[in-house]
Amino acid sequence: MRPAVLSPLFASVTSLPGVGPKLERLYAKLLERDMPRVVDLLLHLPTGAIDRRARPKLNEVLPGQVVTVAVQVEEHRPAPRNRPRAPYRIVTSDDTGVTLTLTYFSARPDYLEKLLPVGETRYVSGTAEFYDGMLQMVHPDRVVDEQGFATLPLVEPVYPLTEGLALGNVRRAMEGALGKLPPLPEWQDAAWVSRERLPAFADALRAVHRPHEPHDLAPESLAWIRLAYDELLAGQLALALVRAHMRRIAGRGTSSEGRLRARILKALPYTLTHSQQKAVDDITTDLAKPHRMLRLLQGDVGSGKTVVAFSAAATVIEAGRQAAFMAPTEILARQHLKTIAPLAEAAGIRVALLTGRERGATRKEILDRLVLGDLDLIVGTHALFQDDVAFHDLALAVVDEQHRFGVHQRLALTQKGDAVDVLVLTATPIPRTLVLTYFGDMDISELREKPAGRQPIDTRTVPLDRLEEVEDAIGRAIGEGKRAYWVCPLVEESEKSDLAAAQQRYEELRQKFGDKVDLVHGQMKGADKDAAMARFASGQSQLLVATTVIEVGVDVPEATIIVIEHAERFGLAQIHQLRGRVGRGTGKSTCLLLFKAPLGETAKARLAILRETEDGFRIAEEDLRLRGEGDLLGTRQSGVPGFAVARLEVHGKYLGAARDDAALILSRDPQLQTERGEALRHLLYLFGKDEAIKLIRAG
Ligand code: ADP
Ligand code: MG
Repeated sequence: MRPAVLSPLFASVTSLPGVGPKLERLYAKLLERDMPRVVDLLLHLPTGAIDRRARPKLNEVLPGQVVTVAVQVEEHRPAPRNRPRAPYRIVTSDDTGVTLTLTYFSARPDYLEKLLPVGETRYVSGTAEFYDGMLQMVHPDRVVDEQGFATLPLVEPVYPLTEGLALGNVRRAMEGALGKLPPLPEWQDAAWVSRERLPAFADALRAVHRPHEPHDLAPESLAWIRLAYDELLAGQLALALVRAHMRRIAGRGTSSEGRLRARILKALPYTLTHSQQKAVDDITTDLAKPHRMLRLLQGDVGSGKTVVAFSAAATVIEAGRQAAFMAPTEILARQHLKTIAPLAEAAGIRVALLTGRERGATRKEILDRLVLGDLDLIVGTHALFQDDVAFHDLALAVVDEQHRFGVHQRLALTQKGDAVDVLVLTATPIPRTLVLTYFGDMDISELREKPAGRQPIDTRTVPLDRLEEVEDAIGRAIGEGKRAYWVCPLVEESEKSDLAAAQQRYEELRQKFGDKVDLVHGQMKGADKDAAMARFASGQSQLLVATTVIEVGVDVPEATIIVIEHAERFGLAQIHQLRGRVGRGTGKSTCLLLFKAPLGETAKARLAILRETEDGFRIAEEDLRLRGEGDLLGTRQSGVPGFAVARLEVHGKYLGAARDDAALILSRDPQLQTERGEALRHLLYLFGKDEAIKLIRAG
């Protein structure tokens, strides 16, 4: 149950002054919420401020500056009768002898006579300019008398708006919303709050919405930090509750002597890197424990995650249980199977593939074997989620490239077994801050070293107008027996964009270089895609024109060149993924980033980073810095909610503390029943994390 004191904050915004059904619709758009509530508005923080504190005499006024001046009203000069559209002017002055003309277009004279009576003193705030050598102010923002001046906010917040909603509307509604803030209990550690001089939650909201100086609403201000920390703690607490809930669903320990694993390692043509070995050890330890594993295996492209995941599978298989390995695309699922099949054979593991393409009798046979326990490992795509897929005893779900799947999809797979352990693989190096946000206190294994023998990739940027030169160079490379990818952003030329089309590029290159050129794109049928990949992998084709379908995981060690057209349109992390398609073997590799000149400053900086480094973690951090957190994981498009008040560039550094705090709180008070626990429930509601509260009691 939601604490009763919060009720006014969870009322519709229509409970605020001046907000009716029409404005409610606009607030719905502004706040990205169907039925916007008072709390949603309160968490809509200003993006800047208008500072009216400058109070010069008229002879000191600088043009263009926002000022508040005290003036004497001298004379009204209404528009002449024959020119009704001319402005209405009011001449004012102060004791410096300088005059300031206030200019109004289409204003009602009776209103202005009341507002600015001749002979009286008024405080006028706005931006002054020189016009015909005279100081004037067009439509002052504020005109008040002595009394009004006493309460005039000299620093006014500015909010992001939506069409039809004026700043005045939002400010008025916000004032109403602030008035509804009830007294709230302190949910943060009181000693910490006072040591850091942080305001209470409600005071922080008031400080940010009614700033005394512009710094009050900077993300670095104490008020904003307080709100951001509240939001981070709410998020971490919710994640920790989810995790505690997962853990309570009793896990099963699965251990083995490691016989199968040993056979697999023996069958490998290489030895594991140190970090691969450590990851295998971590996972084996997790699996043996009687609670569920939730582990993220994070490693740059080409760092060798597949074999680690397969070793994990071997552990549960040796114990007589089953594992599922889920990939985001069919190409990738098939490739995983290809990598795994010989190793599985050596270890005596029974493995099959299940994608959308296995149908009819083939599919039925696979499903039968799966439910009977005749299969140890199933590799597949989304097809693994389907209702009629059942396991004999699923123990481990390996989910590759996590962020392409939703959380609910991950859950769908884990529900196909009893307390299924989960290993998530991600090749997008996610900055630490984001891992915490998206995965909470998931355990993490990182593969930071590249397998031995890898050569650095020579990365160059080339303007598109040198396309022909590039094509010629590729032609020579093919002649020498090399293999190259050519990546284009779109499948078909669309009218609206001038993006290079894969189809068109393919035809052009094929005319030049003949049947050594092949094409693969996302709209091809699965079988055709596979065939194209197979031709390239075997060397039958040498130049593979592709869309970004090759982004994820495709592994052809002989490929040593990658050309990326319109590199400026890709995300940094995405280019890094694409580039990771080469440099997988021992040959020297090259990456050519073709860009359309001229490049803006940010675009230049981004491409420069790629030239400088191959460290995916650094690239991801820079990408985060240059683009903002949402874009990195493609979450802006997919609508995963981000943060209302926390800005990760500024507040990301508090995530670790919030996580530790959440862990400490729940270790002392797992049911949130102490006084502080009760207070924290308020916090969870305020930031929309109350779903987690339900988990406290449930199963
Ligand atoms: P990713 O982490 O991108 O999924 P993969 O698992 O696809 O990487 O591995 C990339 C390539 O590196 C594969 O060809 C794999 O066989 C090879 N590989 C993996 N581990 C090692 C290692 N320790 N030494 C040498 N090559 C390795
Ligand atoms: Mg991979």
